[in-house]
Amino acid sequence: MRVVVVGAGLAGLTAATRLAAAGADVTVLEARERVGGRTHGLEIAPGTWVDAGAAYLGERHTALLDLLADLGLKTVPTAMEGASRFALDGTDGTVEQRPGRFPPLAAVALGDLFDRLEALTRRVDPAAPWLSEGAADLDATTAAQWARDNLAHPDARTFFPLFLGEMMAAAPGDVSVLHMAFYLRSGGGLRYLNAFEGGAQDSRVDGGAHQAAQILAARLGDRVVLGHPVTAVHQDTHGVTVDGRYRCDAVVVAVPPLLADAIDFRPAPAAPRAGRGTVPGCAVKVHLVYPSPAWREHGLSGWSVSAAGPLTSTVDDSPAGGGAGVLTGFVTGADAHRFGALGAAEQRAAATRQAARLFPGLPEPVAVHVTDWVHERYSRGCYAALMGPGDWLATGPRLREPHHRVHWAGTETSTEFFGLMEGAIRSGHRAASEVIIRHQR
Ligand code: FAD
Repeated sequence: MRVVVVGAGLAGLTAATRLAAAGADVTVLEARERVGGRTHGLEIAPGTWVDAGAAYLGERHTALLDLLADLGLKTVPTAMEGASRFALDGTDGTVEQRPGRFPPLAAVALGDLFDRLEALTRRVDPAAPWLSEGAADLDATTAAQWARDNLAHPDARTFFPLFLGEMMAAAPGDVSVLHMAFYLRSGGGLRYLNAFEGGAQDSRVDGGAHQAAQILAARLGDRVVLGHPVTAVHQDTHGVTVDGRYRCDAVVVAVPPLLADAIDFRPAPAAPRAGRGTVPGCAVKVHLVYPSPAWREHGLSGWSVSAAGPLTSTVDDSPAGGGAGVLTGFVTGADAHRFGALGAAEQRAAATRQAARLFPGLPEPVAVHVTDWVHERYSRGCYAALMGPGDWLATGPRLREPHHRVHWAGTETSTEFFGLMEGAIRSGHRAASEVIIRHQR
């Protein structure tokens, strides 16, 4: 059996690995000159890497943990000891400090917000969100409208967009309530998704998550072809031809739906897989590199949340082996568009100024790296595509359903851990199984 896999992210590479192990003759076609997709390493000093893309994982991410073990990669806990800094009044001014991560906002209001979100989350069927109770209403309403209708307390209204930005890289106006509830449900619930210790952000891969894709690709060897953006997938009764050149029995398309829809499929699928409201998730990652994690000397964890931005949150991503202090700043939602439009020098200056305000006594950073995922041609945003109003009902049933010999993978096709590395790997396994079963038939 010959199979072409489109895309060498975690989904494509795990699908290709499974297919090769089952005896298939596999070719992986990757648009970029590198593998890994939304996992990407940044070398901040010789031999010292940080995650410009995905970083964090938790113990429920079993497929990822199994993969890391198989590849000989280790995890390190995300550093969160110490107090947090909060700038939540929406101006550049006041910064408040709190032990732990709970923000200086009314606990009752945040408790109510979380209870309401959990109630929504429980209503969603992660395998088929479009069949959930009240799906049509939830799908027709944006999270912004839901917040206006449901959140009376100003503190809940302040916190909600920051929470959504951190969890989903979404502005509340960009996602339907159904998508928000599905995302939280598929990721293990909002308390798990939001937590560091014991939660979805418990650990990171020592040396960078990008290594997983690199090792998988190295094992696949010359079956992985770089610099090949696939533009055409044509099926006939006997097989499939990819870009007029690669003839095969089946194709696994492991690219985000907004990019997959740009491929010329013949016959064409009945309708696009991305809905009319689907937009790229919006995140820019900023790495501020210091000689050491100086904030720790002041009893600070490096965690901060700011309403005024541009860095809506920061986290200590210093290399486990020492040698540098790294603060990772996340610019998400609408701020990501504004920040992305600035010149490189302005971006660096704005991030440096904000870090200095948040963490007193910080020296000048030795380097500032900005990775703008909104404008990455072969990602179209991150952490994942965001389904807007109407999308789940219109396109949900088609996201995973094979189109004759074309099978779909990618984190956006996963019912569990949608948007995360775990979802990508599970989708790769599922798509490989579909192809193998089809071939056996
Ligand atoms: P991708 O990684 O997007 O892979 C798709 C591949 O297809 C890419 O290599 C792309 O170049 C290629 N491609 C696209 N179009 C074509 C074409 N036409 N022809 C050929 N190739 C093509 N996840 C977590 O679990 N934890 C986190 O902490 C986390 N944080 C994140 C932070 C950021 C800044 C980003 C960017 C992502 C984050 N994620 C996180 C999400 C995680 O990275 C993704 O869910 C996962 O990597 C997606 O893998 P994938 O294989 O589905 O897609």
